[in-house]
Amino acid sequence: MRDATEQGGVFIIQFRDLNRQYHSFKNELDTAVFTCLERGDFISGAAVGELESRLAEYCGVKHCVTCANGTDALVIALRAWDIGPGDAVFVPDFTFFASAECVGIVGATPIFVDVDEESFNLSPKHLQKAIDTVRTAGKLKPRVVIPVDLFGLPANYREIEKIAQEEGLLLLEDAAQGFGGRLDGRVAGSFGQCATTSFFPAKPLGCYGDGGAIFTNDDELAGIIRSLRVHGKGDSKYDNVRIGYNSRLDTLQAEVLKVKLAHFPAELEAVNWVAEQYDSQLKGLKTPVVPQGFYSSWAQYTLRFESKVQRDGVKMALAKAGIPTNIYYEKTMGQMEAFKFTARQQAGRSVTAEKLAQTVLSLPVHPYLREEEINCVVKNVFETL
Ligand SMILES: *Cc1c(COP(=O)(O)O)cnc(C)c1O
Repeated sequence: MRDATEQGGVFIIQFRDLNRQYHSFKNELDTAVFTCLERGDFISGAAVGELESRLAEYCGVKHCVTCANGTDALVIALRAWDIGPGDAVFVPDFTFFASAECVGIVGATPIFVDVDEESFNLSPKHLQKAIDTVRTAGKLKPRVVIPVDLFGLPANYREIEKIAQEEGLLLLEDAAQGFGGRLDGRVAGSFGQCATTSFFPAKPLGCYGDGGAIFTNDDELAGIIRSLRVHGKGDSKYDNVRIGYNSRLDTLQAEVLKVKLAHFPAELEAVNWVAEQYDSQLKGLKTPVVPQGFYSSWAQYTLRFESKVQRDGVKMALAKAGIPTNIYYEKTMGQMEAFKFTARQQAGRSVTAEKLAQTVLSLPVHPYLREEEINCVVKNVFETL
């Protein structure tokens, strides 16, 4: 077996290589950061407003409100709609914890819905079943669905939008991993009445710390969100009309994001090229499925294996060869200790989500992965099978 770190020190495969990205446009990033330091402008500076306009334009949405992180973005969106105790919020059972955590934070009840095996995303069929179950039980009021654009692939909004509309549910898109993705010409961050994203460094569009944003076309909602972001401010910061948060995006992070956003379209092309190489070289394995009309921003490139034993074996063998992999995610939301004593509901067992938790493995993927590195990963995957 070939060691990825050998090669005379020519390359070291990183799961997501932020260092290569930094060095690709180091001068621009350094200038942006040092200019900000010289200005002494750290909170809510002009750069934040500029970034918000550019992000809103990128998504084709009227308002973008940045905030401290992607979890706050979800919480603030739910708070702005006054979601709380007695409300049912439908979330995929297979996602990062924050997608469901936000529901618990506002005191509402998350309803964990099974996902589609090939897209990893919320299953419209199971969503409809879950809504019916909650309505029949009659205890909770179905209010919101939070589809997640998992691993970079937009959720199935063609179906989910229809269901949300028919059932009178608000739709909140969690695009923390999906920023840059597209569906039928529409851009992630523009689905639903409200959408959120995260700028955590390893996300498709990341900063150098924590950051997040909320998108909406609704003027009134945007006003409430802007208020909640800064201590529930009224006309001024010292006139408070509701209980809010301290959840601003740092000016330094806005400067970094302005630079990175300019390079983002090229990065999306590059990472899609990487995914295409994997797809063609890993033929015969269960590679990620991107259905017709969908475009992924490849937050992760995730394989499915036949069994947990096989998945764990591949992971271990790749680790020995110096190739980093990750299991996103080892547990479903319903299996989380955190929800054991928290109000939550499972609309039946999530057979698919539980199977995925046992069999998925994410390979290194980022816009700066080189051909010889891709070949090395592929070779090592096949050698272990
Ligand atoms: C990362 C992530 C979040 C939370 O974002 P943070 O900025 O880390 O708070 C929410 N949802 C999903 C799907 C994520 O991957």
